[in-house]
Amino acid sequence: MTHPFLDLAPLSAAQFASIEDRVARLLDTRQDVVIMQGEALLPLEGAIRGTAGPGTTALNVITGPYGQTFGDWLRDCGATVIDLAVPFHTAVTAAQISEAFAEHPEIDFVSLVHAEAATGNTNPVAGIGEVVRAHGALFYLDAVASIGAEPVLPDAWGVDLCVIGAQKAMGGPAGVSAVSVSERAWARMAANPRAPRRSYLSLLDWKQRWIDGGRRTLLHAPAQLEMLALEACVRRIEAEGLETVMARHAAAAAATRAGALALGGGLEPYVHDAAEAAPVATTLRTPSGVDASAVVARALSLDPTLPLAAGGGALAKEMIRVNHYGADATPETVRRCLAALGAAMTHEDIHRVTEC
Ligand SMILES: *Cc1c(COP(=O)(O)O)cnc(C)c1O
Repeated sequence: MTHPFLDLAPLSAAQFASIEDRVARLLDTRQDVVIMQGEALLPLEGAIRGTAGPGTTALNVITGPYGQTFGDWLRDCGATVIDLAVPFHTAVTAAQISEAFAEHPEIDFVSLVHAEAATGNTNPVAGIGEVVRAHGALFYLDAVASIGAEPVLPDAWGVDLCVIGAQKAMGGPAGVSAVSVSERAWARMAANPRAPRRSYLSLLDWKQRWIDGGRRTLLHAPAQLEMLALEACVRRIEAEGLETVMARHAAAAAATRAGALALGGGLEPYVHDAAEAAPVATTLRTPSGVDASAVVARALSLDPTLPLAAGGGALAKEMIRVNHYGADATPETVRRCLAALGAAMTHEDIHRVTEC
């Protein structure tokens, strides 16, 4: 008997290329789209190592944990890094980016996370892109948590390296990801002696051996299951309509914010301004004295299938994440999450001992 996952015909170069084209349409981009055979951290790291070096001055915007990681990679590449950190309850503004350029005109690279599932904020990429473009810097964007939940438009926004993954709002696989690469970004990589070559992290390998060869020969056997899952997930978005998928996420976020306040137990949206809150996931702040990780544990004991998590690291005490993305971007899931959180908030085990 043939097995549905195991006995598959090989994935052809033509099908691989057609999946890249589907992803390019999703991003509304004419740039090259390279699909990478790994979780999104692969193109995120590959794009930084390909373009940054000792001559680079990078403005690294930190609005959550990923910005921290990008700064570490940039420093590891020998770049001079200017960190611009904003509090996690807000977004960065285009004016702050302008000020950073005024203070450091030598900035030639900007790294930014579009939406942060981990902190629940989303940044105004269109306006920031105008500023970055005006200064001629290369613009690197992590759109893993925004793609499918809100517009991601690398060409319109002047993004040179736009990384996406399918595992959040796209409702797809985590083991494959993609990056759109502008001509400017390819030129920067070609001129960078430290850009990975003959390496799994190398985007240049894909440019030279796949794209420039007319996409006829793959560099290695494609990750077949993930590629088929990615194709299925983009087809499903096309069938539902990208606008409809995004509207589901926006509605889930709005309902979660309103519902948390309506519960009356002191839960508040973590991101103060709704316009700066990411449609992909909503973060909530517990009232002082209430341990967020205990609330989440209690809610999950009522229903272990809920997409709830406490914040990472130090945020575990005060932040609840409602990950209403992909198949969970529905009113039903939001209602179930809110009902469980409401019940958990009345439990006595959730109070944290005040440190003296
Ligand atoms: C989820 C996410 C990623 C992917 O990383 P994981 O550790 O696999 O979750 C990358 N960037 C952002 C902004 C994300 O939200």
